[in-house]
Amino acid sequence: MAAENDTLRMVLLGPPGAGKGTQAPNLVNKFGACHLSTGDMLRSQISKKTELGLQAKKIMDAGGLISDDIMVGMIKGELENNPACKKGFILDGFPRTIPQAEKLDAMLAEKNIPLQKALELKVDDELLVARITGRLVHPASGRSYHKLFNPPKVPGKDDVTGEPLVQRSDDNADALKKRLATYHKQTEPIVKYYQKTGVWAAVDASQNPKNVWSDILKCLGQ
Ligand code: AMP
Repeated sequence: MAAENDTLRMVLLGPPGAGKGTQAPNLVNKFGACHLSTGDMLRSQISKKTELGLQAKKIMDAGGLISDDIMVGMIKGELENNPACKKGFILDGFPRTIPQAEKLDAMLAEKNIPLQKALELKVDDELLVARITGRLVHPASGRSYHKLFNPPKVPGKDDVTGEPLVQRSDDNADALKKRLATYHKQTEPIVKYYQKTGVWAAVDASQNPKNVWSDILKCLGQ
């Protein structure tokens, strides 16, 4: 079974707009694991205007990927130092390349906490344009909304804090094209990698979020 003793160690795979950031909080609520979104971590570096943030922003806006070493180091730091990760983890946006997947497996093998599930959220590219161009996010929490499909209670404001929502600078049709090309070329091969290691499963993420969530629970044997 994927979830043992109520802990969960899993990866969420899927193209931009597949719903990883929407489903991750459900998994966190149910299993108490930590949610590690490498995109959110990078955006936090950007808002703090760190050296890494300044360099990362250019790459992110161009739809490219940050170096494997930097990303692996980031995840390693969180898994080792973030107390919330003691009850497991939901990785969202990581790994994004085969070397990242291999380094993650090596790191987890060393700690004797192997990955239990790599869940692919499958959606056709055509559906993603509308999802991404209408997306609004609350930067501090990573909560995301959609202008039409999942609007906030008050337009432009986060439901929980009332703080302003923003549109990500890479959430436009042009950048999305590049992000999708990067996904198919560099990230999709990970599906085969996890099929070989035996932890892969997939759900149809073109459905509404409630149905996606119930399919995820089924995949986890819940
Ligand atoms: P996301 O919020 O997951 O869509 O990530 C936004 C952007 O951050 C991506 O388009 C990449 O430029 C960068 N990024 C996030 N995670 C990774 C990763 N694991 N490896 C390389 N680049 C990443």
